[in-house]
Amino acid sequence: MSIFDKYAPLQQRVDLVRQIIGRDPLGIKFDDILSPTRGRIGSREIVLAGTNNYLGLTFDEDCMRAARTAVDNHGTGTTGSRVANGSYAEHVDLEVALAEHLGMPSCVIFSTGYQTNLSAISGLAGDKDVIFMDADAHACIIDGTRLTQASTIRFRHNNPQDLDRRMKRAAGTEGDKLVVIEGMYSMFGDIAPVDEFVDVTHQNGGYLFIDEAHSYGVFGPTGCGVAEEKGVLDRIDFISGTFSKSLASVGGFCASIHPEFEITRKVMRPYMFTASPTPANVSAARMAVEKIRTVPRLRENIKARAERLHKGLSEMHFDLCADPGPVIAIRRPNEAVCAAEWNWLLENGVYVNLAVPPGTPQSTSLLRISLSAAHTEEDITLLLQKFDKLKDIQGQLVQDVLEKVA
Ligand code: PMP
Repeated sequence: MSIFDKYAPLQQRVDLVRQIIGRDPLGIKFDDILSPTRGRIGSREIVLAGTNNYLGLTFDEDCMRAARTAVDNHGTGTTGSRVANGSYAEHVDLEVALAEHLGMPSCVIFSTGYQTNLSAISGLAGDKDVIFMDADAHACIIDGTRLTQASTIRFRHNNPQDLDRRMKRAAGTEGDKLVVIEGMYSMFGDIAPVDEFVDVTHQNGGYLFIDEAHSYGVFGPTGCGVAEEKGVLDRIDFISGTFSKSLASVGGFCASIHPEFEITRKVMRPYMFTASPTPANVSAARMAVEKIRTVPRLRENIKARAERLHKGLSEMHFDLCADPGPVIAIRRPNEAVCAAEWNWLLENGVYVNLAVPPGTPQSTSLLRISLSAAHTEEDITLLLQKFDKLKDIQGQLVQDVLEKVA
């Protein structure tokens, strides 16, 4: 008997994949990262198409310079939380810049996007409150609800009518109602009908919280996200985001149209009891906000690349999960086949995400592509060529899988 016995089924799953492709896909190591769209494994250069580096700003000269200058000026780490050690000028500057960009009076930044949702959801929902959460909510939204005493009700994915029914059913209950959705869902790349969600939430007396982790920077006329794209940004009660995608750094933010949101700095445990983000991370994100505001070409680039890749893959009859967008996910029949195809792509110079349950909705196995404004037309041509070739050898790969697991 061992403390690890409970993981025997998971270990079997890992072993099976290893038997099929000869490695653990979650243990992949890049020997070098050369640019937002290129990495190196051994002597092979790999096209990166699964990084969430939507605007390609991780190697932007200005973002890199901002991070270096912050290290020179204020050191490598903050060595404590803002509650204990005080705030750095960088923290406050970025909060002001994000609040201005979103047109909201309050914005708090956090050490990661994950902690952002843990903090904000647990800080907002008290024990008598009810949280209504989309069925496909990200792990950190689910975990945020677990940090509260509030009751949680899940509604059907992207379905405002189902939310309406469930809010009406809970109408008599004491306490506030917090509805939590995402702008673009990370696995399928599908978009929430945010405008309808705002109406339903407010008609039922609730507050709307939207996680724009994958959509801030990419959607909306000035890059504020899907809520801005749908024209309802000024009606969103709380908007969260991460620095780890379009903002090319690590950290997260939550902004609100309610100035009273500031009080939660004194109750949010994953804000108060963890070290604040480093000056370098914050300064890189601050510069990225500037780019998002002032360089719309970045958004235009990624949109154009996404449309072309989506069209090409559709023409090859791949089973795509959503309309064209920065995430293009291909549904595969099962984990074993998906892993074999993922591995073939990697061996042929293309990195996409192997996305499997429990990280995916509906227990699907996906080849998940995330695009970047830094991808060139040639990169898209190359991706299309590789997927075309994959299509040709899919039968052979399935045969190989069957032989290996027989
Ligand atoms: N929200 C969503 C929807 C996410 O997909 C993620 C992570 N990919 C996060 C929050 C957490 O962000 P981070 O990785 O920056 O902690």
